[in-house]
Amino acid sequence: MSTIDPTGHPNVHQTAAELATGDKTDTLLQTDGLRKDFGGFTATDEVDFSVDAGELRCLIGPNGAGKSTLLKLVIGTYAPSAGSIYYNGRDITDLAPHRRVRRGISMKFQVPSVYGELTVRENARLPIQRFADGEERRRRVDDAIAAAGLTGYEDVAASVLSHGQQQQLEIGMAAALEPDLLLLDEPVAGLDVAEREAIAERIVRLNEEEDIAFVVIEHDTDFVASIADEVTVLHNGDVFREGPVEEIKADPDVQRIYLGDEQ
Ligand code: ADP
Ligand code: MG
Repeated sequence: MSTIDPTGHPNVHQTAAELATGDKTDTLLQTDGLRKDFGGFTATDEVDFSVDAGELRCLIGPNGAGKSTLLKLVIGTYAPSAGSIYYNGRDITDLAPHRRVRRGISMKFQVPSVYGELTVRENARLPIQRFADGEERRRRVDDAIAAAGLTGYEDVAASVLSHGQQQQLEIGMAAALEPDLLLLDEPVAGLDVAEREAIAERIVRLNEEEDIAFVVIEHDTDFVASIADEVTVLHNGDVFREGPVEEIKADPDVQRIYLGDEQ
């Protein structure tokens, strides 16, 4: 796990991210006026969003708020229409996704991506094989399976796993890339209470023990409260509120935008 050393990178000039954050040197991710248009529709609208090293942040907001789009801009699936993304004080706006992964960003997408016909071990090997080989690869695959809480299930076909275990496997696979920032898009959608608790435990453990910063998209504020301190609310493509989870839960304007979503 690399540590954040603002003087350690080759970029000796003060970056826009550093200028934007003043003396604060523990900012890991910073978006600056980040916008994404799909045709004439603006999905994220000049978003300024930042995450500190080692932080566990939840991102909530009604359907269509732009949550998935924001994380896909950060990992590089989408190129922004305007704005910039800084990571560890460096501009990564134009960096290819796999190079962002090498810099320490990893993502679990909203759409499940485990292969049912492959075993747990074969699935776990997929993201890692590009970045490590030999003994290092074997160690990372074992770490991925342990991080997923699936030790003992190595040779089981992923299709046999419960939906919750498949989500755990995906989180383990994303964590095995040894990121400093892990983006999880709706990791507990459709899971029962026990499965949600298992995922919450995985996330908190990775955050505390591996010092991985998280951005977790999730609607359920009880789940959010069980893992995070700080919450960002996205609405109509922009940051609507940001603050401690209990404050956000009690905010009548936040309740109002969710009610609007249900009609
Ligand atoms: P959320 O994850 O908050 O539910 P999304 O980021 O998926 O929202 O989507 C935000 C808005 O952008 C939605 O109105 C969605 O229909 C639109 N959108 C997302 N991706 C695309 C795309 N690839 N093409 C066109 N419109 C899109
Ligand atoms: Mg989404």
